[in-house]
Amino acid sequence: MNHDVIVLGAGLAGLAAARDLAAGGADVLVVEARDRVGGRVEQTTLPDGRLVQLGGEVAGRAHTAYTTLAAELGLTLVPSYVAEPGALTRATPEGVSATDPPHWFGPGDDACHAKVTAAFTALAATVDPADPWSHPEAAPLDRLSVGDWLRAQGATQAVVRLWEIGQLALADGSCERTSLLASLRKHAAVPGTGHYEYEAWEGLRVAEGSATVALRMAEALGGRIRTGSPVEAVAIRRPGRSSVRLAGGETLTAAAVVSALPAGPLRAVAVTGVCDERLSSLHRQRHALAAKFTAAYARPFWRDQGLSRLSESEGVLGSTWPQSEGILSALVPPERYGVLLGTPAPLRTAELLADVARLYGDEAYQPLATFIRMWGTDPWTQGYVTQWTPGDVMAVGPRHGTHEPPFYVCGSDQWVAGYMEGAVRTGRAAAEEALRRG
Ligand SMILES: Cc1cc2nc3c(=O)[nH]c(=O)nc-3n(C[C@H](O)[C@H](O)[C@H](O)COP(=O)(O)OP(=O)(O)OC[C@H]3O[C@@H](n4cnc5c(N)ncnc54)[C@H](O)[C@@H]3O)c2cc1C
Repeated sequence: MNHDVIVLGAGLAGLAAARDLAAGGADVLVVEARDRVGGRVEQTTLPDGRLVQLGGEVAGRAHTAYTTLAAELGLTLVPSYVAEPGALTRATPEGVSATDPPHWFGPGDDACHAKVTAAFTALAATVDPADPWSHPEAAPLDRLSVGDWLRAQGATQAVVRLWEIGQLALADGSCERTSLLASLRKHAAVPGTGHYEYEAWEGLRVAEGSATVALRMAEALGGRIRTGSPVEAVAIRRPGRSSVRLAGGETLTAAAVVSALPAGPLRAVAVTGVCDERLSSLHRQRHALAAKFTAAYARPFWRDQGLSRLSESEGVLGSTWPQSEGILSALVPPERYGVLLGTPAPLRTAELLADVARLYGDEAYQPLATFIRMWGTDPWTQGYVTQWTPGDVMAVGPRHGTHEPPFYVCGSDQWVAGYMEGAVRTGRAAAEEALRRG
């Protein structure tokens, strides 16, 4: 079958690209490995009608590509858990508290935290998020981990611990395994007063359900999507028609190919006809491996204790937050993913509920339903959000997020840090570029 453009992957990026390509008059086909669309956004419905988000969930006011698309699709953006009253709760082996500063801080730690945060935001202001490679100190900043930088700034052990619990709450990978340059770039893309501004990144959610964004786009694309069709090989030809081989051997051809695959699964696709530097740049990208745990309750009992905000935890869970009325979301960060994986499957839910009960009391043991989604080892995701370990920004290099027509690349991995914003932003940009080149 011949098409103008074949899009690989029906996640938010692939669907956003295909939607704009179709609107621009292109004959587009999306090929998707799973038997559903949405990729890392996925939802299910409880018997009482409430939707449960099993993947990507919240966006922020700085996420303009995502919020614009949601509005175009006629969806409603409402404040997320960030607007709920109450304090941030932290659980460590010594105790659980909702105090600010945290319970393990001693004299001088708070001032030290303010000092290193100010130094971090000042340094981030010197990084161009679109071109971090042009920074005069790019290579040394990339070689340094956030943890090493903090210690070099004089951060106390208690302050490093606060940064670490925050980092693992985002399931982003330890400070010790995160490139300082990548972290500065992320902050430069969405500046804020703190290290990570929750309102800017997480202050909104789509009332109709985050996965509805993907479902609405797919509905409009109709027969242009083929699910259950894993891509095995892509051959780019110029001049001539490029080809896409599916599992089972069927070959499709098109004038252009848009890859909207995550970094992991893309490595298993044999791509020919693009330069070696591009392939090694794409293959060097990696993900933080995370799992999402969701527990649905009859009522939001955490509100009784004024604990309606985020929690950060040193248990197996890295964080919890209220997803919607009575539904609690939680993430297992990369450093603890192995613990969950090694726990026999029938015991996992009890293990995670014990972490929730430590935060919010024994009512946590009475959920109506629970869901564990092991995204880190899902073959069609192999991760969660982009992770940049020290040296990765330079190794991936300035080809990050760029195209080699007629091979176009999009997906959240092609933005600074993953996220739904990255998927939509790069998907629409890839479509625009492909349409511009005809
Ligand atoms: C647990 C979790 C929580 C998250 N929370 C948030 C959040 O709150 N806010 C936020 O902004 N972001 C969040 N994210 C990240 C966000 O969901 C993703 O960055 C975004 O949805 C990725 O979109 P994408 O289209 O780039 O990739 P994907 O959604 O991964 O889409 C890629 C598609 O390609 C398909 N595919 C893979 N291999 C092949 C193949 N060989 N052939 C054909 N198809 C293939 C996949 O099945 C998938 O459908 C979260 C992610 C997870 C997993």
